[in-house]
Amino acid sequence: MKAFDYARPATAEEAVRLVAERPGACFIAGGTDLLNLMKDGAGTHDRVVDINALPLADVVSSDGVIRIGALARMREVAEHPAVRRALPVVAQALLASASPQVRNMAAVGGNILQRTRCGYFRDAGSPCNKRTPGSGCPALDGQNRAHAILGGSDQCIAVHPSDLAVALLAVDATIVTQSPTGARRIPMGEFHRLPGSTPERDTALTHGELIVGIEVPVTAMAATSGYLKLRDRTTFEFAVVAVAAALDVRGGIVRDARLTFGGIATTPWRSPEAEAALRGHPLSDTTIAAAGRALVRDARTRESNAFKADLVQRALDGHLRELGGMR
Ligand SMILES: Cc1cc2nc3c(=O)[nH]c(=O)nc-3n(C[C@H](O)[C@H](O)[C@H](O)COP(=O)(O)OP(=O)(O)OC[C@H]3O[C@@H](n4cnc5c(N)ncnc54)[C@H](O)[C@@H]3O)c2cc1C
Ligand code: SF4
Repeated sequence: MKAFDYARPATAEEAVRLVAERPGACFIAGGTDLLNLMKDGAGTHDRVVDINALPLADVVSSDGVIRIGALARMREVAEHPAVRRALPVVAQALLASASPQVRNMAAVGGNILQRTRCGYFRDAGSPCNKRTPGSGCPALDGQNRAHAILGGSDQCIAVHPSDLAVALLAVDATIVTQSPTGARRIPMGEFHRLPGSTPERDTALTHGELIVGIEVPVTAMAATSGYLKLRDRTTFEFAVVAVAAALDVRGGIVRDARLTFGGIATTPWRSPEAEAALRGHPLSDTTIAAAGRALVRDARTRESNAFKADLVQRALDGHLRELGGMR
């Protein structure tokens, strides 16, 4: 493990300055992802700025918005009464993540910034365009069972790993940040980046930009939401496929829907095409099947991950039936 400086500032301004002034610096929250990467040699930071002394851990519900501090722990958010009542998809996604120990330690800001679980990325001895730009992507023709069928490029097909991020996309969250140039609000749909030709950049954040919180509007649709995660074992495991859905069904007709997905794409993935297949129609065998087909229409599968195209349609089918009271 490379030697690094450590600092624990008391203000967000100081934390931002300490990271922004040095290219190899980074923030640390719970450390459950960052420290693993550093120990494995996949993260090579020379300064670690501990943000745990900053007053960013509250969860507050007021004026129709739930504001979640970036340092709120995953367990606290999952158990918060306002989150459970108004944003069930968020609470369920958090409870389906990692283990109780990790959820006690890890913060929501760090969760949505965790890096991919692609084995080549985490093995410092492998080439990997995301870790070392231009070195190649062995997953394209190698071990790609866990990899993306949507949103990939010829540079990278790594799956985005956060369950919470998929849920936040379904409820139109906004990420609030602070950087040397001021405060910024980033809609969740613009926060994570497709890999394209620059897979080393996962998000819209600039170097030294600190997430201070996450804001989620309280809506009737968000209250009718849920998260379904399919994984290889029932705990301590990332999604093979996951579906987050929020529905507004009145008079038997789907007035609006948000459908987002995990485990199948390089970012938390929203499917406007699948939503359009439901909107204005009753929730039925026909419309649910049409939504599934629309979701995977542009999927690009590889040798070992083709099964995901079928599995995610089955997951969507089961989840919509459950959420819509069809069984
Ligand atoms: C065995 C295991 C199983 C897991 N299973 C799941 C799972 O099923 N689902 C899931 O979603 N996750 C899972 N995780 C991942 C886990 O949830 C993340 O490691 C954790 O959420 C990261 O949060 P943290 O506070 O520890 O972040 P850290 O490790 O401290 O930081 C992660 C990254 O975010 C940056 N960062 C942190 N906070 C901020 C901030 N406020 N502003 C800007 N940058 C910041 C850091 O610089 C770093 O790059 C698992 C982890 C392990 C170890
Ligand atoms: S899929 Fe992405 S993260 Fe994995 S080896 Fe290829 S470039 Fe690296």
